[in-house]
Amino acid sequence: MEIAIIAHDGKKAEMVQFLNEHKEILLQKSISLISTGTTGKKVKKAGFEVTRLLSGPLGGDAQIAARVAEGKCDMVLFFRDPLEKHPHEPDVLMLMRLCDVHDVPLATNLATAELLIKAI
Ligand code: PGA
Repeated sequence: MEIAIIAHDGKKAEMVQFLNEHKEILLQKSISLISTGTTGKKVKKAGFEVTRLLSGPLGGDAQIAARVAEGKCDMVLFFRDPLEKHPHEPDVLMLMRLCDVHDVPLATNLATAELLIKAI
């Protein structure tokens, strides 16, 4: 099962805390993690194996969206910061749309991420 982790800058600390709280589940052999660039650095630093894609503003969200469209990514945990402007908002919208098109579970906040991780 491939899980994508993305966190906007204002939510990266929250994302790391989430990973640490769910280490047991996320370290299972059957789970592989992918991330946008800067998020991936933090995921790695927290002790997880992760495939790092491009940084979000450089196309990382679009790369994850493509994996969703290709049926390669099974879940997206997106710690969005709704209070900041993002230059790559069109990519973010594309990612969310493709999750809906392909019926891939998508969390856009901590509370939903908690529910989805418990469902694994
Ligand atoms: P980042 O990208 O992990 O490279 O910071 C996340 C995003 O802004 O979508």
